[in-house]
Amino acid sequence: MANQQDPPLLINETEKDYIIPEDNDPLELEYKEIIEQERIEQLNNLPFAPVPEILPLTPLISQNVCAICRSSRSTHALIPCGHRALCEECKGLLEQQRCPICAQPFFSILRIWDA
Ligand SMILES: [Zn+2]
Ligand SMILES: [Zn+2]
Repeated sequence: MANQQDPPLLINETEKDYIIPEDNDPLELEYKEIIEQERIEQLNNLPFAPVPEILPLTPLISQNVCAICRSSRSTHALIPCGHRALCEECKGLLEQQRCPICAQPFFSILRIWDA
């Protein structure tokens, strides 16, 4: 009798295997792995990274250039955060009384004069 019960049990197990969602589908996993490997290979085959990030320049720019128009020299600082973030034209354009650099609310604008 035991031998007759075993086959149905095996069938149930294989049925469960088919029901398992895609996540555990070995073919799917293998496919993802292949794509991953291809991506890594592509990265390894890339020529040397052409240009570094321009991050080091950003703080310098924000010190000297208006954070709104990015073209005029920033001449007006916000109080209390102290960011010299605005130019003459843009200081009147801010509808929200918040610093465009740090988003801190400000209550006054101070003209900064270079010596
Ligand atoms: Zn401006
Ligand atoms: Zn600020």
